[in-house]
Amino acid sequence: ECAPSTASSCKPGSKLTFRAPQQPYTYQDFAYGRLLGMGSYSKVVRAKKKDSGAEFALKIMDKKHITKENKVAYVKMERLILDHLDHPGVVRLFFTFQDTHNLYMGLECCHGGELFDQIRRKGRLSLEEARFYAAEIVDVLEYIHGQGLIHRDLKPENLLLTADGHIKVADFGSAKVTTPLQNGLSDAQADDKSCTFVGTAEYVSPEVLNGHPVTIGADLWALGCIIYQMLEGRPPFKGGSEYLTFQKVLAKDLVIPSHFPSAAKELINKLLNLEPDKRPGAGPAGYTALKSHAFFSGIEWLKLRQSAAPGLA
Ligand code: ATP
Repeated sequence: ECAPSTASSCKPGSKLTFRAPQQPYTYQDFAYGRLLGMGSYSKVVRAKKKDSGAEFALKIMDKKHITKENKVAYVKMERLILDHLDHPGVVRLFFTFQDTHNLYMGLECCHGGELFDQIRRKGRLSLEEARFYAAEIVDVLEYIHGQGLIHRDLKPENLLLTADGHIKVADFGSAKVTTPLQNGLSDAQADDKSCTFVGTAEYVSPEVLNGHPVTIGADLWALGCIIYQMLEGRPPFKGGSEYLTFQKVLAKDLVIPSHFPSAAKELINKLLNLEPDKRPGAGPAGYTALKSHAFFSGIEWLKLRQSAAPGLA
């Protein structure tokens, strides 16, 4: 088994080397700024390396808590996946270190915060804003799925924004590896969670709730929920309890507001198809089916990252 934060070997003779190496840093090497967020087993703070002045989002995870909460597999997964991925739409991992009590991950700092907060502050997003963010999510999902990975917990809280407003996907702790990665990670090294519910109630797909093996269709379902939420200010499936939310998801019990433009209505409806392989992006035409949808007309896919992003609220 691979240790979460050391360049160790998995099998005799197969040395793992990480892009983001474990460094002999200590907590005292950094000056700390504000708390950026809290996860269920971590806190993330703004941290400046005292010698270089370089800024990071330092994710601090209590070892005891991780072990007690059975999160060791999640932490390993996130470290290995972030190390492998290389795309402007994925939060970059620069280094790791540890001390007696904690594991630390030095992440690229996303100064714009969560997409969730942009939706909350603006109430709902304009069509142009929603289209831009959706296009950046599609662009990075195409890359992630092409790498043989399924994120499984896409939601506006896990979509972070750079200072200039571009999307970065974070939180790969629940990801599923469908094709072994070059750095030696395969799902055998993590818990096999393929048939169990992982994710967040409002964005979970019906087939996952029904215990079917997860496919990239699960992320495309979540994308449908996120586009809806950007345009309406709230997710499409929300009951008074997690159980009631699940009932709505399973029955595809949703109302698409009449103010949604017809291309948005159509795309959301297709992404929320109860059959995962009928969702655009998951069929034989691959991502072309999604990127050529009328909702995305006017998007210059190859220039997304260079174009101006929506202003932050
Ligand atoms: P959970 O496992 O409970 O879903 P999480 O994995 O989303 O939690 P973290 O990855 O620890 O939790 O992140 C917690 C919060 O910290 C995020 O929701 C976000 O607001 C903030 N955060 C995480 N990474 C960064 C980053 N690179 N830059 C800026 N803020 C970040």
